[in-house]
Amino acid sequence: MTTAIAGKYLVAIGLEVHVQLKTNSKMFCACAVRYGDEPNTLTCPVCLGLPGAMPVLNLGAIKKTIRAGLMLGCETPPVVKWDRKSYFYPDMPKNYQITQFDLPLCLGGGVPLYDLAYPKEVQKNIPEPGKSIALTRIHLEEDVAKSTHHAAFSTIDFNRAGTPLMEIVSEPDISTPDEAFAYLNSLRQILVYSGVSDADMEKGQMRCDVNVSLRPEGQEQLGSKVELKNLNSMSAVRRSLYYEIERQAEALDADEKIVQSTRRWDDDIGETQLMRTKEDAHDYRYLPDPDLLPVHTPELVDEAKADLPELPHAKVERFEKEYGVTHYDASVLASDVQLAEYYEQAATGASSAKKVANWVINNLLGVLNDRDISISECPLTSDNLRGLVDLIEEGQITNSQAKEVFAALLESPDKTPADIAKAMGFEPADSGEIDAFIDQAIADNPGPAGEVSEGNDKAINFLTGQVMKLSRGKANPKQVSEGIIARLRA
Ligand code: ZN
Ligand code: MN
Repeated sequence: MTTAIAGKYLVAIGLEVHVQLKTNSKMFCACAVRYGDEPNTLTCPVCLGLPGAMPVLNLGAIKKTIRAGLMLGCETPPVVKWDRKSYFYPDMPKNYQITQFDLPLCLGGGVPLYDLAYPKEVQKNIPEPGKSIALTRIHLEEDVAKSTHHAAFSTIDFNRAGTPLMEIVSEPDISTPDEAFAYLNSLRQILVYSGVSDADMEKGQMRCDVNVSLRPEGQEQLGSKVELKNLNSMSAVRRSLYYEIERQAEALDADEKIVQSTRRWDDDIGETQLMRTKEDAHDYRYLPDPDLLPVHTPELVDEAKADLPELPHAKVERFEKEYGVTHYDASVLASDVQLAEYYEQAATGASSAKKVANWVINNLLGVLNDRDISISECPLTSDNLRGLVDLIEEGQITNSQAKEVFAALLESPDKTPADIAKAMGFEPADSGEIDAFIDQAIADNPGPAGEVSEGNDKAINFLTGQVMKLSRGKANPKQVSEGIIARLRA
């Protein structure tokens, strides 16, 4: 793909992301917001769009949107208002959607792309790591009903209708499909962090439309943009963009004109198909909603500022400083707010916070992956993980014994690491025994022993290995090495 555009066309990608807020009730009525209920059981005259029903604002949704905006560095205008966006479609029977037109809740701001947000295979060739994607605005609106199309008929479920929905609009600042992928990942991370949304794309809690345009290198003005619809996953966003950029580049190569249009992504076939061109674009005839008063925001903004959660980037820095873990490890641990919490609980008061991090990343995450569970469903408590690491650090068990204790703890989470180590017969060799093994190893290996006396550190590892063998893995390698040095370099 890149060969078709390298040095020839500039790519500008912008994203419109719709995110359902995590609230108890809907945007303009008291119906519950829940996923997976019987169709059309969470409804009332307001969210069914019946004539004469009056909307009432959900203050919690407004507060959450302001909070999201603050996390993303947005400004909130002192007064915001509500507008009707007119269109005719069965998923919106009152024939308009209540949204925000010229005075949205959030303006400006940006999404910093974090290092682990890219697909693994491209992490190494990112042109601008640490780039921030500018946001245009975030407004709050109501979600529409969900229609499902069967062979000969369609059904519609109003449980979703009226769910508070943020629309997050970016500037056309994104220049590659991988950046678009990273943008969505980073945005999602911040939204989940702030408790604003679960942003689960599989449940339709986060949905996105993409627009993309190409222009010759050196041209200021953006090319005609093509909007892509029906993108149901982050990988669909990335794949559709790869396809669409190549399609437009080939068209431009052949001197064809790109028309402003909307295309649908077919994930099975892996191509975009024309839906409509600009000529049949909607005229939404926005007008202020006479049923809803404008909202004055300064107090709400102050309240939200006083209660902002730590941002992912700040957490990474703090983990590096407070627990002495590497930047990479800190990024992995901080990538999921619940994982970060688990780690902190385990690391606090542990004999080695760094070792706790190693166990989480090298052992625990693999288990979660294999079992396809989240950290909140993890059978190993943070207390037991700390206890396990403490046993290793105190020399009670070796690393390889710890792996067996770890596996047993997953099966019997009520037991403590010490109980299990004892039941497995893992007791530290007593020091007299170890001294005897060290003597024997030195006697059996006079060559390496001489090298250690002369200052060769590699030979220490060799002798330590011999002692470990003699002790059948029971000795603590750190104590053994210290014993060897004490004996030969005193
Ligand atoms: Zn309702
Ligand atoms: Mn919208």
